[in-house]
Amino acid sequence: MNFSSTGSTALRILAVAGLAIAGIAGNLVAAGDSDRHNHQIATFLGGPGHEYWQQKVDYVISVKLDDKKQYITGDAQITYNNNSPYTLNYLWFQLDQNRFSLNSVSQLADATELTEDIIQSLSAGYAPELGKMGSGGYRKLVLSTIDGNNLQTIQVGTLMRVNLPKPLKPEDQITIEAEWEFPIIDAELPYSRGGFEHFPDDDNYLYGIAQWYPRPVAFSEEQGWHTQPYLGKGEFASELGDFEVNISVPKGYIVAATGQLTNPKSVLSGQQLERLSRARTSQHPVFIVTPEEALLAQQNKYADHQVWTFTAKSVRDFAFAASRKFIWDAMSFQLDDSNRSIMAMSFYPNDAGSLWPKLATRTLVKTLSVLSKKLTTYPYPTIQAVNGPIKGGIEYPMITFNGPRPEAKRIDGVGDEFTNEHYLTSLLIHETIHSYFPGIINIDERSHGWVDEGLTSLYQTIVEKSVDPKYPSLFSAQNTIERLRQTALSPVVEEADNLRNVFDVHYIKASAHFSVLRNLILGPELFDISLQEFSRIWSFRRPTPEHLFLAIESASGKKLDWFWDTWFKSSDTLDFGIKSSAPLSLSGQNSTAETGDLTYQIEIEKLGGLVAPLPIRISLATGKDLLWTVPVDAWRLGNNTIRRSITVSQPAKVITLDPDNLTLDINQSNNSIVFLHDDSKRAPTSQTVP
Ligand SMILES: [Zn+2]
Repeated sequence: MNFSSTGSTALRILAVAGLAIAGIAGNLVAAGDSDRHNHQIATFLGGPGHEYWQQKVDYVISVKLDDKKQYITGDAQITYNNNSPYTLNYLWFQLDQNRFSLNSVSQLADATELTEDIIQSLSAGYAPELGKMGSGGYRKLVLSTIDGNNLQTIQVGTLMRVNLPKPLKPEDQITIEAEWEFPIIDAELPYSRGGFEHFPDDDNYLYGIAQWYPRPVAFSEEQGWHTQPYLGKGEFASELGDFEVNISVPKGYIVAATGQLTNPKSVLSGQQLERLSRARTSQHPVFIVTPEEALLAQQNKYADHQVWTFTAKSVRDFAFAASRKFIWDAMSFQLDDSNRSIMAMSFYPNDAGSLWPKLATRTLVKTLSVLSKKLTTYPYPTIQAVNGPIKGGIEYPMITFNGPRPEAKRIDGVGDEFTNEHYLTSLLIHETIHSYFPGIINIDERSHGWVDEGLTSLYQTIVEKSVDPKYPSLFSAQNTIERLRQTALSPVVEEADNLRNVFDVHYIKASAHFSVLRNLILGPELFDISLQEFSRIWSFRRPTPEHLFLAIESASGKKLDWFWDTWFKSSDTLDFGIKSSAPLSLSGQNSTAETGDLTYQIEIEKLGGLVAPLPIRISLATGKDLLWTVPVDAWRLGNNTIRRSITVSQPAKVITLDPDNLTLDINQSNNSIVFLHDDSKRAPTSQTVP
């Protein structure tokens, strides 16, 4: 285990990158076996090679939600298809709920102070001092073959090894029966990503149920079993598959879930059915359950249950939300010429405030419309946003949980520009973009959380600007520079569980570095077609960061090893300066007597570890601006300074490095030189701008 800022992931990726480079060079001569093997898994185009494989897991699940005890009881048939070339004697399963059990690693590692009392009660199996955190975890979990023989299992924290009755050969499948129970956690727990929310005024609950069934650990050629434990910060890695889920809830509950409802006639009233069919052709949100009906429903606490059935194909996970309190609105939209209609829906209690009915469903439609053009057409039949039960936001296939319940008024203390409306809009956009990263492009978030958060945060800004070009985006260059200045941040590629400040590194810094690539190095056009290609070739597959790098290089025609190795894999920052400790001697100027032209010598210094193409602006005394960019190749020889002489016909007033803040230069105080002109002598003196 390595908790340092250049931890295991960074080193491993560097090692893989080294292999890939050696492989390309080697292949031109005579590739070694291991190199050839790698290229069969991923091609030189950055896409899956002809021997790429991934496992598939299909589920038929029945689950009962007990709203008196806040308890889940489930059973399932889980069919594991071994598409790998390897014979498997055992499978690993993920038991995410065990993170909330008393003795979980996450729990014990986070406990700030262990007293003798706590240790004693831990040994006894219950430590009330540790609070609600130890309240969860599987209470029952039995796996068996379809002929009823229990499978031998070993639980290892949030993982479970399942020994198979006989070896599972390539192209074979096995169906495993599972039965389980666990108490639903309070959604207020740190990194809960689901759970229950209680409304004391009317004694109702809102449930967001996630990480709620035993599922196989991801298995891949690159990584084998992805057995990183679930500690809280690192999100998920799982196999794609098909689901049929039968959800038993008390009558009067409304259920939202991954996929499509297949038995609406059994669970909806005639009026609700009629409204739903109207929503299927409506271009604006239609209430399926009105605010008034939701208020009525929360008063009628029926004991008997009814079953809502959902199906979903090619998804990496399945989550659902349920409450008596849900208002439900829906509309339909189309993304291409195929006449395929997608349903956008939102579910929120009356407590959600006035902005949810106004913004939520429309924001889902807007986001997917932009992404379907920028990346690849959204392939699923529904997209849904739920308000609650958690505070922030979390994504699951076709459904996201979003905390904010804002009124349409400004938030005090965070500036005039960023309103409650922006906060809710940005969160909905962000979580919806996760439908792509990691929803469609099935990245292992626990190992490579920076890819999905970085790309999602980058596209968040792109969608925001398409909503409103003046949108006050959180992930702006200036906000990032402020953060980079305040504190040294770990390399972007570090795993989330090894980071103190995941938001700073995986969201702000990663997205800013992607935007340097987009706006400065490749330009938006090349970047966008590269990501479009990456999204197309990796839809419903699991790429690694190296695949992303290779796909971008292949589609853009630019070799970018220098960029990946430094901007993503180091903790360096960028600081260009006009060298100016003694202004006259270091940036002097000469006048050419015959023409009257002026030549300026400027010397640029690299003070941080990073380099980038460097835009330079010369503002002439006449008011005219001259702009050019020094390519990154100027630093190829490992030099720390470059010199340029520039001849202009009019005196320069100011020379500015990176005038539009595209390089994330953390020290802008050394980026300009102002020339003070003395007409009588025609020999300007210069000084740097403080
Ligand atoms: Zn995110």
